[in-house]
Amino acid sequence: MPRLAAHSFVVDEDRCFGCAACVALCPVSALTLVDILVFVEEPVCTHCNLCIPACPVHALSIEPTEDN
Ligand code: SF4
Ligand code: SF4
Repeated sequence: MPRLAAHSFVVDEDRCFGCAACVALCPVSALTLVDILVFVEEPVCTHCNLCIPACPVHALSIEPTEDN
């Protein structure tokens, strides 16, 4: 699946509690758990959407970038 133009995968740092459910699902290993927070290597993310429904606290989303 191609990346969405002018969009960015984002982690809501206020919601994420580090359960790692999303990390295990990502087929391109774009997600890394550091302590109790997930970080995304955004250029690696394919915007495939696989991980987003798996987050129990809805911390993951693909948002339009503000400067586009
Ligand atoms: S949207 Fe897809 S590629 Fe991006 S972090 Fe989630 S599972 Fe990985
Ligand atoms: S599934 Fe949600 S709460 Fe769990 S590590 Fe990923 S972003 Fe954080």
